Amino acid sequence: MQTKKQSLVESITNTAVGFGISLAATFLIFPIVGVESTGTKNVLITIFFTAVSITRSYLLRRYFNNANIEKEICECCNKKKDLNIMHIDSDGNWFCEGCLKE
Ligand SMILES: [Zn+2]
Repeated sequence: MQTKKQSLVESITNTAVGFGISLAATFLIFPIVGVESTGTKNVLITIFFTAVSITRSYLLRRYFNNANIEKEICECCNKKKDLNIMHIDSDGNWFCEGCLKE
């Protein structure tokens, strides 16, 4: 499991390396498909697709993060709850926040 800081470092590194590779690739592909390559144009296009990529990556991550979150059943009320709001007692039973306070 990564810390939030490690995730941020990985995400920034991934984006920076991806940007460099994509920018270099535009100088390769544009002449092949008959698009004139200029430094400014290629940088602008790469910034655009980097923004699209960050948005796609963020939305997919949030979606799968939500779908894969572990759920536990409360021993008291039998309701399914997100694991991160559950509490475990000394006998290993899980209780939701509401039932723990009673
Ligand atoms: Zn409960």
